[in-house]
Amino acid sequence: MTVTSGEAQRRLHVEYAEALEADAETSGEQCNDLVEAADYWHFAGEHEREERALRVAAEVDDDSNVLHGPAAYAKFLLTHGRRAEAEERFARLLREGSNCEWAYVTASMAYRLVDEPQEALRWLNIGVNRFVPSLDAEIEMGDAGSELLRQRSLLRRELGLPPDGLDELHERLTEHGRQIGAQIESIRRHDEDPAILFWPAADFAEIQRERPGWYPGTEHLEHRREAERALRQHPDAAVVIGSFESLVGFAASRGIALDEQSTRAEFAAEAARRGLAIAWPPGRNDACWCGSARKYKKCCGAPGFA
Ligand SMILES: [Zn+2]
Repeated sequence: MTVTSGEAQRRLHVEYAEALEADAETSGEQCNDLVEAADYWHFAGEHEREERALRVAAEVDDDSNVLHGPAAYAKFLLTHGRRAEAEERFARLLREGSNCEWAYVTASMAYRLVDEPQEALRWLNIGVNRFVPSLDAEIEMGDAGSELLRQRSLLRRELGLPPDGLDELHERLTEHGRQIGAQIESIRRHDEDPAILFWPAADFAEIQRERPGWYPGTEHLEHRREAERALRQHPDAAVVIGSFESLVGFAASRGIALDEQSTRAEFAAEAARRGLAIAWPPGRNDACWCGSARKYKKCCGAPGFA
């Protein structure tokens, strides 16, 4: 039983969009902030605000940002049936080229959204050709070009194309990435870092029914916000996703009082010792720790959220 309604979600998106537009004025990352704000206007169904943010992002972009204003605006135009305007902008991108990997990722996304996968693949090929000069390029996950490689491999697989040299290069990258991830994980397990306990919506609703005194008058959204805030205050912390049922079992097996705050803290610490905590923070583009299936940067990691 979740308690989030469509309207609450929409209000949250508007709130994020406004926070990002406010950040854009002072952050020194005007283009990125506006492109991200546009995403939230989109989710909120505010397409005029979305277009306005993207038009400004396209104007102020000096090609030194993570996100690419002109490509993002062209994507908007293409997916809103304004093909001629979009193609004019994409043609300029092709002519002038960009140092921004995301320009090519965005162009590719735009054509995927209008169901033209071959054109999407063409943009990925153009980008990879620019950012990954050779098959033995010294490139790692997160380097410019690695996202293009990743998307290219995924799309080629979807299209049923046989793996080529660049697909193999991408495979080697992910293998390397997995090894590094495993190392970090094993280092983390040895530490006694604080564990922040977070209840998924269904468990939180159950707690509000069964134990209303634990989080009096708190909505699940506020609970999630508090968890993110606590995590930001303890950069070494990890998240433990709680289950009310296992907490009840934990308290019973230890013979300790279910209602004590310290029982919840011990429950979280024990889960962390058993390696069940989730490392924090996730990468900006990785899935959010809260389980929403959204990117961290667009969920609990959004600038205005905590
Ligand atoms: Zn989240």
